[in-house]
Amino acid sequence: MAKDYYEILGVSRNATTDEIKKAYRKIAIKYHPDKNPGDKEAEEKFKEAAQAYDVLSNADKKAKYDRFGHEAFNGGGGNYGGGGFSMDDIFSQFSDIFGGGFGGGSAQGRRRRKGTNLRIKLKLTLREIATGVEKKVKVRRQIQCKSCSGTGAEYGTALENCTTCGGTGQLKKYTNTMLGQMITTATCHVCNGEGRVVKKNCPPCGGQGFVEEEEVINLQIPAGVEHDMQLSMSGKGNFPYRGGLDSLAGDLIIAIEEEEDENFKRDGRNIHYEHYISFIDAVLGTKVEVPTLEGAVRIEIEAGTQSGKIVRLRGKGIKDLQGYGTGDQLVHLKVWTPRNLSKKQKEALEKLRSEGIFEPNPTKEEKNSFFDRMKDFFQ
Ligand SMILES: [Zn+2]
Ligand SMILES: [Zn+2]
Repeated sequence: MAKDYYEILGVSRNATTDEIKKAYRKIAIKYHPDKNPGDKEAEEKFKEAAQAYDVLSNADKKAKYDRFGHEAFNGGGGNYGGGGFSMDDIFSQFSDIFGGGFGGGSAQGRRRRKGTNLRIKLKLTLREIATGVEKKVKVRRQIQCKSCSGTGAEYGTALENCTTCGGTGQLKKYTNTMLGQMITTATCHVCNGEGRVVKKNCPPCGGQGFVEEEEVINLQIPAGVEHDMQLSMSGKGNFPYRGGLDSLAGDLIIAIEEEEDENFKRDGRNIHYEHYISFIDAVLGTKVEVPTLEGAVRIEIEAGTQSGKIVRLRGKGIKDLQGYGTGDQLVHLKVWTPRNLSKKQKEALEKLRSEGIFEPNPTKEEKNSFFDRMKDFFQ
């Protein structure tokens, strides 16, 4: 069941031609394929609106439609039933609506342009990086002027061929030299190479085709990003000077800055953390609490733990950027040696020393583990 054309454009049945035009213009800008690359739904809406406008903007077709509805075009070879309305048909409408400046328009020197990119730095903590985070940033950017769709020409007025260059955008300069006439070409200074000039400046943008606005942009930062990594959001940069409807805004480039963490050191997806235990806890064993990026966890210190032992907390590191799992937190246990002992304490330790049990006697495994770690370090 085909949708009602008035409903598609969001106008009443007794809307004027001008109201219909305005309504369509709004929808066409919103769902323009250049603004919604790859978005099938937007393309469908864009086509739908074009079809509706094609009928409602034509007095003859409109009268038929008002009387017979969609039936008016389904029978006798009308091309509206099966979506036979092509993109070319749509763009040829544009010269009517937007004053000749768009799509399949006349412009010789005209090319689709992209505005400049905007760059921002974004500071993130390790915690934010570990799980990914949503950030709101405020950027000041040039956005396409809604009133003139970016042409710079006042709504309803057309762009005119530049008389200085005759619409070519180029100026030829003839110079007589001893070797004969030389021709050099330069970009036309009147139209900036566009071939067309604005007859009457659009008031809201002063003829620039863009207005500056502060926009709050939601950034979805994926987990696992790294310092100096650049993310880009297409279409969130600046709209070009007099870009018109077929131009695109540049990109917003987000440079990631990872803040130093006072407790954790990052190593790719893994997190290193140093935890000091007392000499007595190392000997007798105990349970301790260590912080992780997602809150504290309790770990067991086994009796007879050697300084330098690494306890691996699986999955407590940073999520992989590509989604291949999560890194670990490596807790480096260090035995802390007390200073400033009282005379009595020293005597007690002296007594233990004479018993000989504190003489280092590492096992072969303990020695191997040291070399393994060095290998890890230098590879
Ligand atoms: Zn404007
Ligand atoms: Zn010119």
